[in-house]
Amino acid sequence: MITLILFGPPGGGKGTQAVNLVEKYGLLHISTGDLFRYEMKNDTPLGLEAKSYIEKGELVPDSVTIGMLKNKMDANKDVKGYILDGFPRTVPQAEALDELLASDGNEVTALIALEVDDEVLIERLQGRAATSGRADDADVNIIKNRIEVYKSQTSVVAEYYGKVEKTAYVNGVGSIAEVTNRLSDAIDTFLD
Ligand code: ADP
Repeated sequence: MITLILFGPPGGGKGTQAVNLVEKYGLLHISTGDLFRYEMKNDTPLGLEAKSYIEKGELVPDSVTIGMLKNKMDANKDVKGYILDGFPRTVPQAEALDELLASDGNEVTALIALEVDDEVLIERLQGRAATSGRADDADVNIIKNRIEVYKSQTSVVAEYYGKVEKTAYVNGVGSIAEVTNRLSDAIDTFLD
């Protein structure tokens, strides 16, 4: 079983690239951001709880996020593997993921981190606000908070997997196809 973590800051291009990589590697795409937006759209208790954090650009608490991810993975065990987008975003989430995979005799294959400068991120997120309809893209202060949260709580996850030589960094600036090629090259170094 392959488990790839597609990593990077908000606006880094994870969602766009995940679509291309899913096609190439035949993996199941799991985006915690998409799962939360689905719950919010349906006004579920989980959605309502998540909304109060997401609207501020904060992370949803680990217990909530880990439970949701676990349910999704448990319901999809008969797949070739996963491409995780937006998870793990904290070290406790990474530890929970490792445990979850280990209970089935699996482990994370690789974490591939997209690198994009802050100014480009802000430009991209503001640009997509009109089409994404996302409240967290519409306000530059919320965008900046998401980038700060990435730096203070999330970027350490790349170092966590770096300690076991599973992390690769990829330049996330360029055409979509160029970035897909860079990601594929990085991923292939971790596959047999
Ligand atoms: P982006 O990468 O564009 O910031 P996502 O769609 O991945 O957006 O996530 C949107 C929001 O959902 C995040 O800002 C955060 O509030 C919440 N979220 C998504 N994934 C997680 C996670 N693993 N842990 C905590 N909160 C999360």
